[in-house]
Amino acid sequence: MYYIGIDVGGTNLVAGLVDETGRILNKVSTPVAKNMTAEQFGAELVRMSRRLCEVGEIPFDKIETVGVGLPGAVDNKTGLFVQNPNMPFKDKNVPLREMFQKEWDVPVYLGNDANCAAVGEYWAGAAKGCDPAVVVTLGTGIGGGLVVGGKLFTGFANAGMEIGHMIIQPNGILCGCGGRGCWERYGSATALIQLTQLEMERSRDSKLWGLCDNDPSKVQGRTPFQAARLGDEAAKRVLANYLQGLSIGMINLVNILQPEIICLGGGVSNAEDDLLLNPLRELVWRGCFDKEHHVRIEKASLGNDAGVVGAALLCNLV
Ligand SMILES: [Zn+2]
Repeated sequence: MYYIGIDVGGTNLVAGLVDETGRILNKVSTPVAKNMTAEQFGAELVRMSRRLCEVGEIPFDKIETVGVGLPGAVDNKTGLFVQNPNMPFKDKNVPLREMFQKEWDVPVYLGNDANCAAVGEYWAGAAKGCDPAVVVTLGTGIGGGLVVGGKLFTGFANAGMEIGHMIIQPNGILCGCGGRGCWERYGSATALIQLTQLEMERSRDSKLWGLCDNDPSKVQGRTPFQAARLGDEAAKRVLANYLQGLSIGMINLVNILQPEIICLGGGVSNAEDDLLLNPLRELVWRGCFDKEHHVRIEKASLGNDAGVVGAALLCNLV
């Protein structure tokens, strides 16, 4: 059985031909043109899907479903790409399923990118066989996906796992959503970079400075981990602070859902275990209500492929 999964990003579209186990048989990608319209976008998804079949020498009618993972709000019931902050076109409620099926009559599933990552990890990655499973993606913000009872949970109107906006600090840091104290202002890669920059101002002799050519705007998510590895005290303070914020949101997730596993994805999750996962496990396990049944906390295992695999296999979980 063959499935097509398309991972839509603000800069690149990646489509993959995937089998029922979640293995990627081949991939094609194309950059997002700066002035791409919604119509061109829809047409490009069809073109890439056909191209995959040609490259893989699979007849079009052997494709079970096409799944599209989108950076923004989607409604799989109506087939609409509801809203997006990340694409060149700003149209709301783009009828993506209808656009696709006009060209190719195949079942089309839509999901947001964080949910697709969860589907991928649950079906073929680190969360395989775990239920409930939560996948947390640490990037510009914090994305979340939840599989419970073998199905993706999205709430009654698709905003059910906007975990980045759970409030962990009353009157806390202002968030892009308009609220204050949202988790992603403390636990995302962006937050880690900001914490690092703040600490650098206080610690002029920190090794952090050398690692970014004395230019705080060059700090990356990996910078404080590199400095902590060199024994830098300022970097250790940054990480302690960051891990505390990150852990609070995870403790809340565990106390509400008691997932069997929380998988962490995004660039930050690539840090070495002794600096990230081990101290995080300690903090979360110690802070949870149930101290006997430990949630597993693991790195997401599919990396950049999670979006394609998850989009392709959305049909199994919605
Ligand atoms: Zn927010």
